Amino acid sequence: MLLDIVSVFPDYFSILNLSLLGKAQADGLVEVRAHNLRDWTHDVHHSVDDTPVGGGAGMVMKPEIWASCLDELLGMPALTVDASAQAMANATADLASSFSSGYAPDYQPSSSPADDEKPVLIFPDPSAPLFTQAAAQELSRHHHLVFGCGRYEGIDARVGQYYAAQGVDVREYSLGDYVLNGGEVAVCVMIEAITRLIPGFMGNPDSIVDESYTGEPLLEHRQFTRPTTWRGLSVPPILTSGDHAKVDRFRRDEKLVRTNAVRPDLIEKLDTHSLDKADRKL
Ligand code: SAM
Repeated sequence: MLLDIVSVFPDYFSILNLSLLGKAQADGLVEVRAHNLRDWTHDVHHSVDDTPVGGGAGMVMKPEIWASCLDELLGMPALTVDASAQAMANATADLASSFSSGYAPDYQPSSSPADDEKPVLIFPDPSAPLFTQAAAQELSRHHHLVFGCGRYEGIDARVGQYYAAQGVDVREYSLGDYVLNGGEVAVCVMIEAITRLIPGFMGNPDSIVDESYTGEPLLEHRQFTRPTTWRGLSVPPILTSGDHAKVDRFRRDEKLVRTNAVRPDLIEKLDTHSLDKADRKL
């Protein structure tokens, strides 16, 4: 998987060289390229931002710098002035639909391997739909992801609109209901969640099968290791019984009870057909 990241602080991404992601890069499973947006500027100050049209505090990232960079990374032809004006008109015509659905926030599983080959352009944005495990799962099947990290008040809204109108698969995701200084940390989070799902990434592939939010929308059961008694606290005795059926039942009960207590919204999403008789008693 090729990961192109565009930021005014590309040094942020040196952490991706650590741990399992570092190993995945050394093994050739993942290639990370962090680009400095300022490399696409032409003025002496390398400025990437300007004041908001309509007034207000802060600065907004300029569309033309982003476009020079993204055209190159997405392998798109440089447009003539006329073609560019037409593309913008198309993008503007799509404005209403982009508000109602985002560009493609409700990820659709790729319909064919050919779709997986096309780059996906991803913008972290606090006002977008939440990034989820399901989105990570779907994105892990793609071969080329391009991330655009906003700073200041964000990137001029026409950039995503423009590429969506050009047929690029554009996504916007929020990490949660809070505001970060920039998209860099959000992109690191998304990359970690996505890449660990690539086949061959984890030493033990079973580690990602039975996890929170995976398969059913449930939180994982509690985990314990040795010693079985520590500072007067014992692990639940059933876990040392050696009875696998009982251990499975205990863990399943924990998942359901914990999820109901901590994230009742997930229980609402559970397919009731997946519940067995013992589940229903809880
Ligand atoms: N003016 C924006 C607003 O109020 O929604 C906040 C802009 S924020 C200071 C700058 C950048 O940080 C955003 O463009 C986005 O890339 C990133 N960002 C901030 N919070 C985020 C979140 N919760 N999820 C994803 N990205 C976030």
